[in-house]
Amino acid sequence: MANESVAARIKTTITANRERAPEVYARLEALYPDIRCTLDYKSPFQILIMTALAAQCTDVRVNIVSKELFERFPHPKDFLEVDVKVIEKIIHSCGFYRQKAKNIMKTCHSIMGKFGGEVPRTMEELVQLAGVGRKTANVVLGECFGHQGVIVDTHCTRLTNRLGFTKNQDAVKIEKDLMKVWPDDRWTLFSHFMVFHGRAVCTARAPKCSQCTLRELCPFPDTREGRKLAR
Ligand code: SF4
Repeated sequence: MANESVAARIKTTITANRERAPEVYARLEALYPDIRCTLDYKSPFQILIMTALAAQCTDVRVNIVSKELFERFPHPKDFLEVDVKVIEKIIHSCGFYRQKAKNIMKTCHSIMGKFGGEVPRTMEELVQLAGVGRKTANVVLGECFGHQGVIVDTHCTRLTNRLGFTKNQDAVKIEKDLMKVWPDDRWTLFSHFMVFHGRAVCTARAPKCSQCTLRELCPFPDTREGRKLAR
């Protein structure tokens, strides 16, 4: 069985993953030395809104749209004085614009009404905001408030499954699995590595395994799915 030989070659138990993880991290760090969040934000409020806009949309598009959005409405209180239709029009090209605009308005109401006009600084408070899940909260906490967090998006889900660091598809379960693999000072940066490597090399439909720096540390190319997809 192909999977048995893979399991024998690259073990993916918790202990084996902890041993493999530093080398995976080191190789990604060497490959992406200047990595940073690709959303051009200037405040916790901006990255909160921009991360919500980035769902099913590119960061490039979000950066373009956000420029106009925050020039016209720099503070959460400014959103309370405008009709939701105006916001919908500005963010239209980000997709799902009605739901996103509705969530932005609700979030601004909550920030002004419950949090004194400031973006809250804890996971418990952040996830109370409309449309804000653990992923967005971890982005805000990691980028702005110095709290490391594993940010589980579509790239992180795909790559960490392929690399054998998790067998889960549920974001909360993946987050917990990855928190066991790396020490907490690596959570945020590792999440960024997953996004960059997922876009450049380990794409969903055609991962470039033969050119990948993680090739001999990754079980995926030897799986049935890997043999079908990998280049
Ligand atoms: S070896 Fe292939 S599947 Fe594994 S991380 Fe690299 S590109 Fe992705």
